[in-house]
Amino acid sequence: MAVSMDPVVQLYDGLTEDGIDEARHHKAPPQRFRASEANNCMRRIWHRLHGDRPAPRTAGLAVYGVCGDADHDISRQMMEHYGVKLDGLIFNDDGTVSENLMFRKTFPYEFKGQEYDVELTCRADGVIETPQGRCLLEIKGMGFWKYKYLNEAFEQGGHEAALTYVYKKSPSYIDQCMVTMKLCGFDRAYLLVKDRSTGTLGLHNSKTGERSGIYIDFDEDHFNDILQRFGYVARKLREGKPPIPEHPKGMQECGYCEFRYRCHDMFDRKGEIIYPGPNVEENHDGDSKFDKADGGT
Ligand code: SF4
Repeated sequence: MAVSMDPVVQLYDGLTEDGIDEARHHKAPPQRFRASEANNCMRRIWHRLHGDRPAPRTAGLAVYGVCGDADHDISRQMMEHYGVKLDGLIFNDDGTVSENLMFRKTFPYEFKGQEYDVELTCRADGVIETPQGRCLLEIKGMGFWKYKYLNEAFEQGGHEAALTYVYKKSPSYIDQCMVTMKLCGFDRAYLLVKDRSTGTLGLHNSKTGERSGIYIDFDEDHFNDILQRFGYVARKLREGKPPIPEHPKGMQECGYCEFRYRCHDMFDRKGEIIYPGPNVEENHDGDSKFDKADGGT
């Protein structure tokens, strides 16, 4: 039977509505800093922990996130199938993988005689046995160009060159690994990159056939630098004032930032906040516009 809507339109419309529904029912989170946001703009973290309502997640980002989760699961399933020793994971009958290495720890931060509690949380992608010992596993999917340039560094200069390249071009991977290693008690992480365009796992030198993950050693000074940043956000939260924007307008992170409407976009509009718009504000009594009986979420 013919349907009235193109299936792709139906999918993306549904995801868009879900994003609006999520934003509409947004609740302030507990004041805990996530390992995955260790490299985020401090103002962005401040808005999240302040409980500000984020702009609705777009359908495009939702699809990207679902595919990323599936990539993680498939990568670990394949490794397990071929005898790679993994830990900290549950392989479910439905093909999904549950992570059960979750930690939370509070660190003190002091500024001008005032003490602040900085609570950090993490959920590791697992633990993996490698020739360099038992490592924390971190999986990162990369777009075509990002992976290509990293892999070229590996082909030209081996593991050291690849590691240097990640430090320079993807510092968020390093920061996340530092926090997760600290909380989980590991001194080495194994970063498994995945080329999302071809499915290639790890680095691969096509001329020599060499393959490798990326080994990252824990660095206490590096972790302390991250702690200082989180501590600064904790201080600004107590003061009730957001940090100044950390990036100039137009930076890549700002393009993805769900609080842009409270930052650069707000300044551009001379203080007028355009989000949450009427589509988010309606039904603010907590009732979802969607009824499961009608096929909604
Ligand atoms: S728009 Fe950019 S500078 Fe402003 S909070 Fe977001 S990431 Fe930070």
